[in-house]
Amino acid sequence: MPSFSRRNFLALAAAAAQAARAQTRPYEGRSLVVITAHADDFTIFAGGTIAKLIDQGYTGHLIRVTNDEKDSYDLDLGETSHRNTVEMREAARILGINDVHSLDFRNDEMDAISETEVRARLILWFRKLKPWTIFTFDPSAKYEENPDHKKTARAAEDAAWTAQGHLFLEEQFTLGLNRWAVLDRYYWARAPENQDVNKVVDISATIDRKIRAVQAHKTMMRHTAYSLKEKLAEAHLRLPLLDTINEESVNRLIEIETRETAAAVGRKHGMQYAEFFHYIPIAAENSYVMKNAVPLK
Ligand SMILES: [Zn+2]
Repeated sequence: MPSFSRRNFLALAAAAAQAARAQTRPYEGRSLVVITAHADDFTIFAGGTIAKLIDQGYTGHLIRVTNDEKDSYDLDLGETSHRNTVEMREAARILGINDVHSLDFRNDEMDAISETEVRARLILWFRKLKPWTIFTFDPSAKYEENPDHKKTARAAEDAAWTAQGHLFLEEQFTLGLNRWAVLDRYYWARAPENQDVNKVVDISATIDRKIRAVQAHKTMMRHTAYSLKEKLAEAHLRLPLLDTINEESVNRLIEIETRETAAAVGRKHGMQYAEFFHYIPIAAENSYVMKNAVPLK
């Protein structure tokens, strides 16, 4: 019965391939949504982890809240916003995200925008993109000075909370969207309290991609380099690497600083390079729910 055994063999081979794929890509079918205030926040704070989860099967989506019109050294508003947007798309692509959206609120001018409005925009995207996981700023972080970061964090947390509610933005249901509960959350922060860090992710395999993604924000990084040089000069200091500011010296600075930060986090946790988060799971690890939940089918 050669045809039967051949069919058998093919079925076994397909099952083995599927098992191998399930091992390397355990999160196939899940989607993650990154909510970033500015083009460069997500690459700097979470680029290594996002790339790693996408490698493991997640589909990635990016939502930027502002239009990044002010983050350049010597360009006008329109050119600044345009370049930062194009460079953000490239950074996202390097991390494996091809689906990029922007709410385009004016950079550092969001005081007049109500949090409910930002939340409503995000609820629509959550109901459409159905994120298993979201990444954003920690809304409880101390020492966060940037107003766009604070507003983004609060609106994203509120949207994750309310997207499941049947009485929030009911008109969206007439468009075919459904309620959606975000299942887990990775919050990043500039200077988190030690007790707030409850998830450390080994990014040794993705650090090179993270560096390339940060370097893709050419306009913002050039601005960062000039700002640093000016600040040091005011303090009567100079960094020889920045005597000449060009793509090469800026890229070198990014590489050194990104490795330095990730290595410092990794050292504390026995990893070469790492990123840290405040992580909120579906339910506490040893809770009744997680101990007793069984697969739907
Ligand atoms: Zn920012």
